[in-house]
Amino acid sequence: MNFDPTDEQRRWRDLAREFAQGEIRPRAAELDRGQKFPYDIVAEMARLGLMGLTLPAEFGGSGGDFVAYNLALEEISRADTSVGITMEAHISLGCAPIAAYGTQEQKEKFLSKCATGERLWAFGLTEEEAGTDAGGTRTTAELEGGEWVINGSKKWITNSGTDITAGVTVIARTGTREGGRPELTAIVVPQDTPGYTRGQAYEKLGWRASDQHPLYFEDCRVQRENLLGERGKGFRQFLATLDGGRVAVAALSVGLAQACFDEALARAKEREQFGRSISEFQAVQFKLADMAMEIELARNTVLKAAWLKDQGRSFGREASMAKVFASETAKRAADQAVQIWGGEGFMEGSAVARYWRQVKINEIGEGTSEINRQIIARSLLDESAEEAKEKMVAQ
Ligand SMILES: Cc1cc2nc3c(=O)[nH]c(=O)nc-3n(C[C@H](O)[C@H](O)[C@H](O)COP(=O)(O)OP(=O)(O)OC[C@H]3O[C@@H](n4cnc5c(N)ncnc54)[C@H](O)[C@@H]3O)c2cc1C
Repeated sequence: MNFDPTDEQRRWRDLAREFAQGEIRPRAAELDRGQKFPYDIVAEMARLGLMGLTLPAEFGGSGGDFVAYNLALEEISRADTSVGITMEAHISLGCAPIAAYGTQEQKEKFLSKCATGERLWAFGLTEEEAGTDAGGTRTTAELEGGEWVINGSKKWITNSGTDITAGVTVIARTGTREGGRPELTAIVVPQDTPGYTRGQAYEKLGWRASDQHPLYFEDCRVQRENLLGERGKGFRQFLATLDGGRVAVAALSVGLAQACFDEALARAKEREQFGRSISEFQAVQFKLADMAMEIELARNTVLKAAWLKDQGRSFGREASMAKVFASETAKRAADQAVQIWGGEGFMEGSAVARYWRQVKINEIGEGTSEINRQIIARSLLDESAEEAKEKMVAQ
């Protein structure tokens, strides 16, 4: 067993770390306050190859492996999870399904600019009635005169409304299967398609410099060829997409947990009470030890899941484990970091207060902790992880 990253993986991690610490971290507080999408940062990340890290080189991506991507994403998120989620949603949710299921023509048309990160692509699954229960999708797509006619709406879709967004892949109901289950299909919709509009950006507790909008489709027509993969395979496609996404959200959580630890350690060394550094008190030392221990475990879990994916092996259960453990590690780390900072940690403007606000979404996005625990449990009860997930989402 080898725990050392390859030279290439190390190169991506170090590149991301240098850029994140030098260019993102100093601006994270201002970006959060202003709730502004950081176009210049994303452009520079695109130039460095980070915004297309795992995407095929043939279409302008960097062709890196999944471990390298997760190492880099951890570093970006350590500086700012708003930027981390922008990168993650673009690569794992927006572009990866097109790279995996798209035709050569679709890849040339939609992926080429996005794989460089010059343009962004979004992934629209969630709806008002379809959150955890994605089988509750109401958005419909009907074939009419050689075109898909899409009607419905989506909610909270990341990267859907920036000035550089090129389009979205929507999951729509294209029919009903036996027993009333929906036939779900993925369809790509370019940004300027008539009948496709976006509502106001959301005001959020965290990820405030990232971009999410509600999407509306009213008799929105796209070519029949915009079908992604096969008709009726949308369900399987988004389950596979979310597996990869869960590992990446777990990496993002490790980055945030590490940022909490960095702040806590610095404060513990600097702050004096009773004439001594508070780092000399065992109560504070144990908090730091617990944080470091859990972060190490979470990081190993993320990297194991990423490694399995790189080997082409099944990694669904490990993805869910990584997602739950890393997001909850980050939550505990944020809580302890504020505790070590004391009252200063409660002040608007303190980094740990921002981390404490940001951390909650990691337990919700790309599958809540509850649903991931059920996926893990069902996989243990002698079902394959894949079947278990299908049942969860379909119920
Ligand atoms: C900032 C942000 C960005 C997002 N970006 C995207 C995106 O880019 N694309 C996209 O498609 N979606 C996106 N989402 C949606 C996200 O994936 C959903 O919020 C998530 O899947 C949970 O759905 P929900 O919020 O509707 O919660 P609900 O499904 O309403 O769940 C509410 C609670 O009930 C629990 N629950 C539900 N069903 C069960 C069950 N069977 N057993 C046990 N507990 C259950 C949940 O675990 C949760 O605790 C985003 C959300 C946010 C907030």
